[in-house]
Amino acid sequence: MADEPTIARVALDVPLPEPFDYRLAEGWRPAPGDWVIVPWGTSRRVGLVVGLADSSDVPPERLRALEAPLAGMPRMPAHWLGFVEFGARYYHAGIGELALPSVPKLLRAVPTARSRGAPTGRARSRFDAIAAPPGGLTADPVPGHPPNDEQAAALAAIESVAGHAVHLLFGITGSGKTEVYFRWLEHRLASAPDAQALVLVPEIALTPRLADRIRERFPAHPLAILHSDMPDAERAAHWLAAAEGRARIVLGTRLAVLAPLPGLAAIVVDEEHDASFKQQEGARYSARDLAIALAARRGLPIVLGSATPSLETWHAVRRGRYRMATLKLRAGGAALPKVVRVPLRGAKLRQGLTETAIAEVEATVARGEQALLFLNRRGYAPVLTCGACGWLSKCDQCDAYRVMHRIGGPPRPDEAESAGPRSRYRLVCHHCGADQRVPRACPDCGNIDLAGLGRGTQRLEEGLQALFPNARIGRVDRDVARHRGAAEAVIDAAHAGEVDLLVGTQMLAKGHDFRRLTLVVVVDADGGLFAADFRAPERLFATLMQVAGRAGRHHAASRVLIQSRHPDHPVYAALAAHDFERFAADQLAEREAARLPPFVHQALLTAQAKTAEAAEGFLAQARDALVAGDTLPPIGREVLDALTVCDPVPMPLAQMRGEARAQMLVESASRNVLHAAIGPWLAGLRAQRTPVRWQLVIDPHEI
Ligand code: ADP
Ligand code: ZN
Ligand code: ZN
Repeated sequence: MADEPTIARVALDVPLPEPFDYRLAEGWRPAPGDWVIVPWGTSRRVGLVVGLADSSDVPPERLRALEAPLAGMPRMPAHWLGFVEFGARYYHAGIGELALPSVPKLLRAVPTARSRGAPTGRARSRFDAIAAPPGGLTADPVPGHPPNDEQAAALAAIESVAGHAVHLLFGITGSGKTEVYFRWLEHRLASAPDAQALVLVPEIALTPRLADRIRERFPAHPLAILHSDMPDAERAAHWLAAAEGRARIVLGTRLAVLAPLPGLAAIVVDEEHDASFKQQEGARYSARDLAIALAARRGLPIVLGSATPSLETWHAVRRGRYRMATLKLRAGGAALPKVVRVPLRGAKLRQGLTETAIAEVEATVARGEQALLFLNRRGYAPVLTCGACGWLSKCDQCDAYRVMHRIGGPPRPDEAESAGPRSRYRLVCHHCGADQRVPRACPDCGNIDLAGLGRGTQRLEEGLQALFPNARIGRVDRDVARHRGAAEAVIDAAHAGEVDLLVGTQMLAKGHDFRRLTLVVVVDADGGLFAADFRAPERLFATLMQVAGRAGRHHAASRVLIQSRHPDHPVYAALAAHDFERFAADQLAEREAARLPPFVHQALLTAQAKTAEAAEGFLAQARDALVAGDTLPPIGREVLDALTVCDPVPMPLAQMRGEARAQMLVESASRNVLHAAIGPWLAGLRAQRTPVRWQLVIDPHEI
């Protein structure tokens, strides 16, 4: 640079692609990676310096000056800045929009006169106090199992490559993937005195148990935990420990991939197929994909673990881009459960259960073992209906039914009927949150005989109590989890053997290792077979494989019953055969024939407006601008020819919160083509003034 820099480019947590220019203040020159306080409108904000420049496009009279450095924050290292710049470019988002939300609020709060400089200092000492495991940092590690032959071979395969490589650890449920991660991390952490390991899990609920196992196994390595559901001060303490290299192991959900880890030496992404790795608001990044990019940029190995890998990952293995290590057997000798398909057609049901299922649940409880009843639908009944005229409890803001929820616990046997439904139930929309009393009578015909149609987890729980009055029943779903500690209490009770029957949604499917659980009943999963989304079968297979994997982890004989109206469907057939490879091969063949991901790359433009016409009109205009091509000089004809621009269509949930929603897909077999086309196109869209709210999603998960 010929001239001295006079301008700092500052990323702020706002949904705009470019950083903001500020004049350097007299006598103080920050460096890229420094945190600063800047004026913003009539207030001040904390931002991150991402670059210096000697000129700005902002007219000098409108340029404002940096106010002050933010005390106490470490400078973000260059490798991290490069990584978040890459991520922002890839997702066509701003650096601030992508990276700043992952930094704890407490650390990027504008200091007041009272707090100035204090939070970070307090946070540092706090972490040192909480990082030590109960026995202190010198406690003896609890040794793992000696690895079996498969685990040893997998570990050797992973360690046979020096430098960057992406490894898929493809291991059935209960095969001991965690043991392989731990041994690998042990070696990687020993490679340098300041080496750090990053372990990503899809859900907050999975962190406590894994954190316990890590602390037991690595008592000498301080552990930081990063997720969004932590008290502010604790979250700040953990983030600082990670960023300053004091934490040697960092365990977290998707936002943890954005933590600056100076000593990073290894990355594990557990349950890599899980859709929760995709951020659903703000910059829509995939933490798994960013983790792979991060490993590549820093020349590090990364291990992706799953029993049901995503088809993207599976495809990359087949093409030789990723390597694979396989665990085919359950560790410790347990057998895989036998999967039995139970036809629902023509079956007599009680409380939603076939006689087969009821008999097996009864026998399981009689043996003193546990059964898990899986129903991925929370609430009492998915819809309230009028028996006289067919009225249904549709949400007036959304294209969805309001779900009947029971308030409080199950009714006592003596009050079941007399309490009446009205006081005990509410109608709740799962999309907009609308929450109303159950109407006294049908709004259409006045009939007072309204009834819940179908079954959610609350109703299943009640039904089970009626069928098995002496059984101890525990339920786990998001309604239970709303009360801090309530879901954990049920899970702890199940581990302690104080629960006979577990009722739950997806929340129970992941990660748990219940020693006495020998029967899983999938009550009703058919809804997932015919969803419009092309990823629905993949998701259903993964969910059922995972829930089936809770059974018999410590027993010779265990069973999974799948109640279905379509017992011969290929998804269930593959599941019964425990054959992910066949399922994946079939799915990939279908995807290739239909030109769907991973054979094409997609970007999805979504629009929300008062009316469907406005939303779809905006997208149609956007499509025309892209297809015209000549209005966007940087796009050549050849780029356009390699691009498929679909027509705007209503989104699967076409109305939400009173707004119409539409979407338009842009695809290409070439990622480069897709990105080359999107950059200038988006710039054009951003320059438009429109009341329509829109968003671009790269590699969308749900379309
Ligand atoms: P995954 O993550 O693959 O589902 P886990 O790592 O949770 O499986 O292991 C399943 C169970 O097997 C755990 O109880 C674990 O302690 C046990 N286990 C793991 N490795 C071994 C081994 N080599 N020998 C005996 N038991 C093992
Ligand atoms: Zn009616
Ligand atoms: Zn609604």
